[in-house]
Amino acid sequence: MTDFRAPGSPDMFAPRYTGLATFMRTPVAESLDGLDIALFGIPYDGALTNRPGARHGPREVRNQSSLMRAINHATRVDPYALCRIADAGDVPMTSVFDIAATHGDIAAFVRGLVEARVTPLACGGDHSVTLPILRALAKEPLALIHIDAHTDTWDSFQGSKFNHGAPFRRAHEEGLIDPARTIQIGIRGAQNVAEGWDYSEAAGMRVMFVEEVQRRGIDAVVEEAHKVVGDAPVYLSFDIDSIDPAFAPGTGTPEIAGLTTPEAMALLRGLRGLNYVGADVVEVSPPFDVGGLTALTGATVMYELLCLLAESRSGG
Ligand code: MN
Ligand code: MN
Repeated sequence: MTDFRAPGSPDMFAPRYTGLATFMRTPVAESLDGLDIALFGIPYDGALTNRPGARHGPREVRNQSSLMRAINHATRVDPYALCRIADAGDVPMTSVFDIAATHGDIAAFVRGLVEARVTPLACGGDHSVTLPILRALAKEPLALIHIDAHTDTWDSFQGSKFNHGAPFRRAHEEGLIDPARTIQIGIRGAQNVAEGWDYSEAAGMRVMFVEEVQRRGIDAVVEEAHKVVGDAPVYLSFDIDSIDPAFAPGTGTPEIAGLTTPEAMALLRGLRGLNYVGADVVEVSPPFDVGGLTALTGATVMYELLCLLAESRSGG
């Protein structure tokens, strides 16, 4: 006889390699009723400009996330004690050969979560998927913490305004984010034109190149992020390529000399106490991964994001 568990309570004591590979081994969401946080996948990489494979990210992150446990050793936060959490599946796609239409599918899915008062925690997918999430979430311009090697404020590429290097330029144009309450952390890597960096700075976003992070240290970065965001409703978007490819090689546009995983963990744990409306981790590309290392890193980032969202959602 199957023991049907209540939503939001993963059976942490079953052998970790058994059962369906849901995010963090949470139950599959039967409905959104009573749910606080939905973990979901966006297996889409039709907006990539370089190495492919991020469409396979959610499945591999689900697999590696079975290694996650409940209580955060650094903060002692147990998200499952604070919130009802489940895996809401993948965004159903109807038009994968059409970026704008796929973004419509993603926005519709997230709008469903918003209407049910469920906080979204997404796993991409290429970074273009953050734009439709923001479209569904932003009732007013949101604050944004964007951790990435790239500002993703470039313009059209090969005629597409919605490529994965452009979501935050579009979000700014559409009034979805408040540039004065936006910080981009970990930026690096040579470009052929400087206009993405320049666009962010001219718009009034705080652009923190990785050398500044390394020179000033994570505590100073955390302090500045808190100052930029304040108590505004904030979205956190984490591109796995912010982390050095020595730790996270499985991604589309790797840039060396990035954040270490200890730096990334310290950064995320420093971002407690903000007013979160949602978060994502994107750009995990399993075909370029080595031994599941990047998917494990992505799953661990997602767990840390879950701790932040759960604490914020429960008013902790
Ligand atoms: Mn990105
Ligand atoms: Mn990037």
